[in-house]
Amino acid sequence: MTGAGSGIGRQTSLLFAREGAAVTAVDIAAASAKETARLIEKEGGRATAVTADVSCAADCARMVEVAERAFGGLHVLFNNAGISHIDDGDAVETEEAVWDLTMNVNLKGVFLGCKYGIPALLRSGGGSIVNTASFVAVLGAATPQIAYTASKGGVLALSRELSVVHARENIRVNTLCPGPLRTELLMKYLDTEEKRQRRLVHIPMGRFGEAAEIARTVLFLASEESSFVTGATFVVDGGITAAYVTPE
Ligand code: NAD
Repeated sequence: MTGAGSGIGRQTSLLFAREGAAVTAVDIAAASAKETARLIEKEGGRATAVTADVSCAADCARMVEVAERAFGGLHVLFNNAGISHIDDGDAVETEEAVWDLTMNVNLKGVFLGCKYGIPALLRSGGGSIVNTASFVAVLGAATPQIAYTASKGGVLALSRELSVVHARENIRVNTLCPGPLRTELLMKYLDTEEKRQRRLVHIPMGRFGEAAEIARTVLFLASEESSFVTGATFVVDGGITAAYVTPE
């Protein structure tokens, strides 16, 4: 589970552990990954923390090795780590370095997770991969964030291909497309009530999603409850993608 130190990743780690899974909590922020593992163990669950940068191949190879060594095999791979850079804007103003960093974490990170995770899933007889994209993979963004939007479109396309290539190997691959959530990633931008209200206008349900609500979707996609679901674009967005005009 990558990006396990915060937001969706932490809530999903906690939920999975409560359901009996042994969780390898991976994050670039060492203290956050350790805290997630500590919270799981405090509740009586099984977890191990790994400090890794998902844009680094050696780190991704190591996180998979640790998971296999600690718990005897890999059954679920949740490629969820992602960034939204403060200087990501339109095509003209966005610096090449911002583009590269965003692509490396958000898109290459998912590729590398799969590169090392898929052989491990095959070693344990198959499993489920959930890759976190965003609703902006299927819809234009409300504010320009060219690198983020392109990276998430890439995650969706990559996941579709993987789902087909591995469909007969007992590996399912689905893309999670969350709408705007009340997590650090978005709230650092929407830091005033006025800004939050401006964004809420576009959400039919009239509120931000919670990381715990996304976690429940990941649990479904990871488990046998979704045994015939693969290659799906799983949108969890309070109705944004369904809306033409939002209700008053
Ligand atoms: P978050 O910022 O709360 O958590 C992201 C975690 O990823 C952090 O703990 C961070 O340290 C970690 N991380 C960042 N770069 C990393 C790297 N190179 N290697 C390993 N870990 C790294 O954000 P969140 O809202 O929980 O986001 C999780 C995923 O959901 C992201 O992919 C994000 O793009 C996506 N998403 C979020 C929203 C939203 O509104 N919050 C909406 C759609 C999609």
